[in-house]
Amino acid sequence: MKQSCASWIPRVLTVVMLSAITFGVAAKPPKPTHEDPINSASLNDEQARNFVALLSDVVQGVLARQGRTDAFISVRLDKSHSRVVIDLTQDYLPQGQRNFGSELQDRLHTITTEIVQMANFDLKIIVENVDYTFDGQGLHFYYPEDFSVQDGDPLSGLDFGQLGGPGQIVVSAGHGMYLHRSTPPIWRFQRDAYFGVREDQITQPLSYSLVNLIMERGLHSALLIRSMSPNVHAPSGSPWIDIAARYYLQEMLPNRKDIWNSLPNATHDLRERDEDIRSRPLYANDIAASGLLSIHTNGHDTPTPRGTRVYYHQGRVVPRNVATSVLCYMKEIINAQGGYEDFPVATNPVGATDNGENSIATVPAIIVETAFHSNPDDAAALLDPAFQAAAMKGVEKGVRLYEEGEPCTPYAITDVPDIQGPWGSTQTISIH
Ligand SMILES: [Zn+2]
Repeated sequence: MKQSCASWIPRVLTVVMLSAITFGVAAKPPKPTHEDPINSASLNDEQARNFVALLSDVVQGVLARQGRTDAFISVRLDKSHSRVVIDLTQDYLPQGQRNFGSELQDRLHTITTEIVQMANFDLKIIVENVDYTFDGQGLHFYYPEDFSVQDGDPLSGLDFGQLGGPGQIVVSAGHGMYLHRSTPPIWRFQRDAYFGVREDQITQPLSYSLVNLIMERGLHSALLIRSMSPNVHAPSGSPWIDIAARYYLQEMLPNRKDIWNSLPNATHDLRERDEDIRSRPLYANDIAASGLLSIHTNGHDTPTPRGTRVYYHQGRVVPRNVATSVLCYMKEIINAQGGYEDFPVATNPVGATDNGENSIATVPAIIVETAFHSNPDDAAALLDPAFQAAAMKGVEKGVRLYEEGEPCTPYAITDVPDIQGPWGSTQTISIH
């Protein structure tokens, strides 16, 4: 991915200034009178219109960098679900693919990342769900094999399993080397290295320590679905520790092509990378896992976004509650670690539909985006064993205390009174 910070930074400043002006504080210094987030569901009509204008600017900015300004149709705020819905043209979707692939997921994730950065982090206007439609139709319309109609409903209310059942917790370290089906085929990593961090590799020690933490507590057994072995994986000539889950599962379960070779008829270059993503939830489903924790670092095509975020599949109740608990305890433990008192951790998880690892899972599944490898400060944290330990202790504690019925809610976002008056006026709101 490219780094184009020079063009990005002025635009952020423009957006922040614009927000101050359009929310009605032009005559005063643009100084917020509160530090607490406000839920987007609480914006009045004018504030909502202005907020949507800012979101549209963000989406169009990403599309411009992707060379796809033509794909923009609209952005709307569905206040009843605290949901931003982005409508793009259907030719934004890859041609000739029957399944929801990783390349499309990456492009959508870039848009989601900037929406969450601007709304939840910079403006502190909480968005709980981000969803996409294409010429007005949801992902379930275009990829019926991967999404049910219910997946298109942000409040489907599916419990989606009970974390805390007898099964094992699957800890899935993001990415790893895969066979790119170019001519000739080549083995390569899924992510580039930034600031000394390559996501495919750093997720391995993070996941290994998480499994150990879970096992030490004894609530569950937990397992990794990538190998930690330094021995050579013969087809690639690289150590097993660098190899993606798809090939480890192939080695362990040679007869289960339905898990690791789930796109046998696909012909695109990225088909084994797409199979890799799919193999993880398919395996967790197959063993009736107690949960699927996908450990990632976050990447972006500019260095601006940073911090810890957690995603679950929109509308799924148990994953949302697990994600909330995990994020809350990650914040507690990361910010208690010396040097990381101000490390940004999202206030709330975001319900999304653009993550195959979550959407294909029929067991409770969350994606932990530990920090941004594309931001130099976050990358330095990812390389620090103290940060690594704090982050994974937070994940473990979040899962454990969720199961024990002690979810932590430092900041309830479901009971915010309506705000009257212009943004930035001297008004306090009580949050319960
Ligand atoms: Zn990732």
